[in-house]
Amino acid sequence: MKFRTGIGYDVHRLVEGRPLILGGVEIPFDRGLEGHSDADVLCHAIADALLGAGGFKDIGHFFPNTDPTIAGISSLHILSRIRQLLEETHWEISNVDATLVAEAPKIAPYLEAMIDAMSNSLGISRDQISIKATTNEGLGFPGRGEGIAALATAALISDTASR
Ligand code: MG
Repeated sequence: MKFRTGIGYDVHRLVEGRPLILGGVEIPFDRGLEGHSDADVLCHAIADALLGAGGFKDIGHFFPNTDPTIAGISSLHILSRIRQLLEETHWEISNVDATLVAEAPKIAPYLEAMIDAMSNSLGISRDQISIKATTNEGLGFPGRGEGIAALATAALISDTASR
């Protein structure tokens, strides 16, 4: 049995005039994250953790922000594509764990919906994905509300993976 872990980190800037999408869920807020896709920082960190665990290049390689065909796409599609990639290479997701770093808004009311959306896209059960949220105690860019950061780890298992 092969076992591998990966790590992911992402940051997006908070700007006016954009919806706030986190973990595939639109959250009512006065600003949203800036980016080429829907800028879902949580999905992106998880995507990189999974890609890293699978020994693949990073999210920017598979979904470059210069590609006009993916402008504004839901990052849940990115997770679905990574699920495909892992299936093709015979990796099975053991678990995903992630932390959102955001001073505001309060994330707790949306955690269950995020877990539903992302576990569905990844083809795993709800208990294989854990999402936590913390503030940055007012310090640095997350603390000043300039952006939102996310960290993630993922573990993959396989009996037959070729890499
Ligand atoms: Mg990103």
